[in-house]
Amino acid sequence: MAQASATAEPALKLDIDPQGIGVITFDFPGSKANTLGQAILSEWELLLDQLEKKTDLHGLVLHSGKPGMFIAGADLKELGSAPKDSPTVRYLIERGLKIIDRIEALPYPTVAAIDGVCLGGGLEFALGFDFRLAGAHPKAEVGFPEVKVGLIPGWGGTQRLTRLTGPSLAAEMICSGDAIPAAKAREYGIVFDVVPSDKLLDECRRVLDWARQSGAWQQERKKKQQPVPATAEQLEFAQAAARGQVQAKTKGQFPAPLVAVDAIFRGCTRPLADGLKIETELMIPLVGSDISRSLIAVFFMTQRLQKDPGVSDPTIKPKPVQRVGVIGAGIMGGGIAGAHIRRGVPVLLTDSNAGALQKGVANIAGVMQSRIAIGRMTQAELLKALTLLGTTGSMAAMSDRDVVIEAVVENEDAKVQLYKQVQTVLPAEAILASNTSTISITRMAKAVQRPENFAGMHFFNPVDRMQLVEVIRGEKTSDVTTATLVALAKQIGKTPIVVKDCPGFLVNRILFPYMNEAMALLEEGAEPRALDKAALAFGMPMGPVTLNDVVGLDTALYAGRVVNTAFADRAKNTTILDELVAAGRLGQKTGSGFYAYPKGPKGVDDPALAGFLQKARTSPARKLGTEEMTDRLFLPMLTEASRVLMEGIVREPADVDMGLILGIGFPAFRGGLLRWADTVGLPQIVEKLRTYEKLGPRFQPTEQILKLATGKKGFYS
Ligand code: NAD
Repeated sequence: MAQASATAEPALKLDIDPQGIGVITFDFPGSKANTLGQAILSEWELLLDQLEKKTDLHGLVLHSGKPGMFIAGADLKELGSAPKDSPTVRYLIERGLKIIDRIEALPYPTVAAIDGVCLGGGLEFALGFDFRLAGAHPKAEVGFPEVKVGLIPGWGGTQRLTRLTGPSLAAEMICSGDAIPAAKAREYGIVFDVVPSDKLLDECRRVLDWARQSGAWQQERKKKQQPVPATAEQLEFAQAAARGQVQAKTKGQFPAPLVAVDAIFRGCTRPLADGLKIETELMIPLVGSDISRSLIAVFFMTQRLQKDPGVSDPTIKPKPVQRVGVIGAGIMGGGIAGAHIRRGVPVLLTDSNAGALQKGVANIAGVMQSRIAIGRMTQAELLKALTLLGTTGSMAAMSDRDVVIEAVVENEDAKVQLYKQVQTVLPAEAILASNTSTISITRMAKAVQRPENFAGMHFFNPVDRMQLVEVIRGEKTSDVTTATLVALAKQIGKTPIVVKDCPGFLVNRILFPYMNEAMALLEEGAEPRALDKAALAFGMPMGPVTLNDVVGLDTALYAGRVVNTAFADRAKNTTILDELVAAGRLGQKTGSGFYAYPKGPKGVDDPALAGFLQKARTSPARKLGTEEMTDRLFLPMLTEASRVLMEGIVREPADVDMGLILGIGFPAFRGGLLRWADTVGLPQIVEKLRTYEKLGPRFQPTEQILKLATGKKGFYS
């Protein structure tokens, strides 16, 4: 057995079997994933030195020693820290390209055995092999997620994939960044076949025998070197379609997918070597760009949250949760129950209103049906999930539940009465969690017998689609309760963030200064459309005026009041919402709010709004520029986020950023609110704040912001 490594424990091992076939086993020691960092690339280079000399080999197979994992991709830490436009960037790209070129030129046929996750650089390596066979492991999938971190596949992915699948499919895969399962990869021609995992290596050997005898491997290589056989007209049409799709999806905010389209269509008309050069020159400016850095940071923040147990004491273990109860079968209760049963957690659902309970169950089934319609669930999974849903009219039935989540009407008295009733039947160790969006957990805990077993579990609407769950610790909530709710949220596929109890918790506390400022701006003369446009241009999924209409003006007014009253020292008083609510204009649901909704959910300008604006305007309307509107919207959020950090409401800046990305769709390409501030620079942020300071304390730099600016630091440095 030959080994190729300068280190004690190599990741790559080469065995040569009695038939003269080399089998490389890739197994990165001490890691769950095989990645392609610089140390591993050194191993590849040493191994290739040997392989190039072994001209008598009959073929070569690459497989992974890790179940369910082929190669996860390049090392994002290395790419994320490469200084922009530095020689390091070119070096990192060209080093990988060279290795794949060398694999592609080995003097015998080669095959990659993919029996698990094969992404990014991993797929680019696999495309350097003559053939790819997939195993039937449920995790076997291939994809190029690079655009999700602001990059394009830069080790030949845009060129080699295009030559296999044609440019349209390649553009679709690369621009979406989504992986496709092995069966689809076979349909696309990316893998030769999908075979049972335990037969994969034998099948690879058979493919090598056949390829050697038929010469198919040489034809395969020749084909790969050629331009794509398509007419200029066909390519022009396909490129326009691909660009159109990307524009519609990204609204021009992320350059990477458009750059990928360029690389694909410019490169595919030339020989491979030229295509690769085009790809490299297009890739280089993306590495180390603000957008890519931010997206890579979001990737690592997501990973951290996935691993975060929610408490700092490592000896705390979550309690097992086998049965969950949900009280209240309305919009939220139904969503929460549905999320649990979909992930295999049995739920008992109740509601004081029998009709509401029935409707709740119908809604749960309806949401699952809509998932089936978009291919995200099967009928069999729906039936299985529904067997896990029980309903009851009696609170006593909750006596065997490990966790009960309350999602009844937002009324403190009603909730507290309910807790008093339910705690008489719950086992002593059971956890009671409230989905309240505005009521203090610490205050409600005073009404329960075991406040250590009581916490907030704040889901977002619609539960089916929103990833975030705020796990809210009251003053007396125990570590075990917190860790258990964090583990439960993860079990049902959500991303929990632990938040200390405070008005608005994390997300609404930071969102409302933004919503409030939008109202203040309207009262100063900003046009609703212009305001929405400014927020959209910044990258928000919808503008603040539309958001009010979607949430419901009454709900926004009520929830905003809770936050504004609690932080009255800095909240700006506005009246426009009160006026619209008083006039019954509650937004989408009543057909008019800021906009009118004559034909469904798309808002149109409503001349009747002018009167309301006129009445609310405090001074003669003035014209506001986009920059002023943007600064005014986001700076009050930032000062509030800084206060959240200073008060220890969350444990890390990343909690704020991820909370806002997942909870309100704050643009991930900006890395979140705090990382946006870091990118702008804290001294510049202070300067901006000084411009608006006269408008009130919401624009006053906090002590933390001032300190960071003076020290030329950021929230993350
Ligand atoms: P909803 O009005 O749709 O549903 C509430 C349900 O609770 C109703 O079916 C009602 O019959 C039932 N109910 C009322 N009192 C009850 C009692 N004593 N026992 C059993 N059932 C009772 O309300 P919703 O929008 O689902 O909100 C529920 C909770 O979730 C509230 O605390 C709300 O603040 C919070 N929340 C709502 C949203 C949202 O966008 N709707 C988002 C996050 C959190």
